[in-house]
Amino acid sequence: MASAFRIIIVGGGIAGLATAIALRSLNRKIIVLEQSSFNREIGATISLQPNASKIVERTWDLSRLLHEKGSMMDEGFQVYSLDGELQFRIPLSTTEKYGAERMLYHRVDLHDALKERATSDKWPGEPAQLHVSSRVTHCDCEDGVVYTESGQTFQSDLIIGADGIKSVVRDSILGTKVPALRTGHSAYRMILPVYKLLTECKAFCDVVDPTASYTTMIMAHNRRMIMGPARNGSVYSIVAMVPDEGINEDASNTSWTTHGDIKKMRETFADFPEWARSPLSLVADGEVGLWQLRDIDPLPTWTKGRAILVGDAGHAMLPTQGQGASQAIEDAEAVGAFYADIASTIAGKKAPSFEQIKTINEKIFACRYQRATTIQQYSRQAAKPATEEESAKIKMSPSEFMDYNCNYNGALEWAREQEKNQEKDVEVSVIGREVKAGAQEVSV
Ligand SMILES: Cc1cc2nc3c(=O)[nH]c(=O)nc-3n(C[C@H](O)[C@H](O)[C@H](O)COP(=O)(O)OP(=O)(O)OC[C@H]3O[C@@H](n4cnc5c(N)ncnc54)[C@H](O)[C@@H]3O)c2cc1C
Repeated sequence: MASAFRIIIVGGGIAGLATAIALRSLNRKIIVLEQSSFNREIGATISLQPNASKIVERTWDLSRLLHEKGSMMDEGFQVYSLDGELQFRIPLSTTEKYGAERMLYHRVDLHDALKERATSDKWPGEPAQLHVSSRVTHCDCEDGVVYTESGQTFQSDLIIGADGIKSVVRDSILGTKVPALRTGHSAYRMILPVYKLLTECKAFCDVVDPTASYTTMIMAHNRRMIMGPARNGSVYSIVAMVPDEGINEDASNTSWTTHGDIKKMRETFADFPEWARSPLSLVADGEVGLWQLRDIDPLPTWTKGRAILVGDAGHAMLPTQGQGASQAIEDAEAVGAFYADIASTIAGKKAPSFEQIKTINEKIFACRYQRATTIQQYSRQAAKPATEEESAKIKMSPSEFMDYNCNYNGALEWAREQEKNQEKDVEVSVIGREVKAGAQEVSV
């Protein structure tokens, strides 16, 4: 009798939906359990770097759908100082160098496109089922059972922990809670209709064209504004980063995303150029989100038995490299690639054994850990002056790091490169031993 490969994905954010896309196939039953009802998103844009945009737009065939929703290619960035002077303007085209563009989306559009690609029957493979308002409390990583707050249990062969920075699957894998670390920064985020900027913020539009596909930054010592368009230039997103202590957080909030106090926000940016802060007076109460920026330390592992972590659950990082969602997408592609041969195409094939699942999860972890951790650490280092210990860890310059981030062509190629490098390391260490042996002989 046909025995489907049963997969439970905990969390329907970018990582969870992306993993559902990467895993969907014949003879697989995928259920995504999402705690929210998906109707509370305060607008913001999100960028995908070339390493991830090529997976989303090409491998998963979402280019047309995202284009219809108004995706934009980021054409460059410009930086202004606190006194309003243009510091530099750099056009950016990454296709030639990295094989894809840096793309800008409205977060809701990217999320909706991933959701459609994971759950609609328009694409090949069994569509994933999405259960909203299903909050998971814990799971049994050996037996593959997932428990929800409402008392439901789900039996599975594979559990994907895509439940973000406060992951409960992570608690079950590690047997302990991992603190999300304060970074000293928070970000107000808001999105404005461009017609409103054009009609009511002339001073701003005289300096920045809000319809142009450019990322604009205004930098002060401890605050910065990062802005850019979305939806074909019809809306404009502003992220305003501030030190934590300047703001009134709602301590009872369980997510670290809450509504921002617009009065406080305007006061915090009072010394910014008049044109730069003028859009802040266009937003009303309830239209500004406040995002406390947290990350986690690298974990000892992401996997145990049938369970594995993806996205922020495994490696939450700061947005300074714009790589959080991109790394989640790389994780998802890796899970799809390593499970590609398992019970996918032959109807009636038995579900994979515990040993098979455990071994594949360990291979995914081995392939992904070093890369995601390096990017996570660099993102933390870029947010604040690094301690000596931290800067000793990462030796790359920003442009070398950009190459490291963006020169990526999927998990299997990366794993092959890792293997080759390990072989080189073995050769080097053998030579090293010989040299040392020789030196000892000399000293004797
Ligand atoms: C200010 C800011 C700007 C950013 N900008 C960028 C950017 O431009 N580019 C980029 O690549 N990244 C960016 N990031 C990072 C990026 O948003 C995250 O890395 C990415 O969203 C992680 O996706 P995720 O699915 O792993 O986690 P999340 O987006 O947190 O999704 C987790 C999902 O799991 C659900 N969930 C949680 N717990 C449970 C549970 N117990 N049971 C069931 N469901 C649960 C949640 O409701 C949620 O839907 C930014 C982050 C910040 C803070």
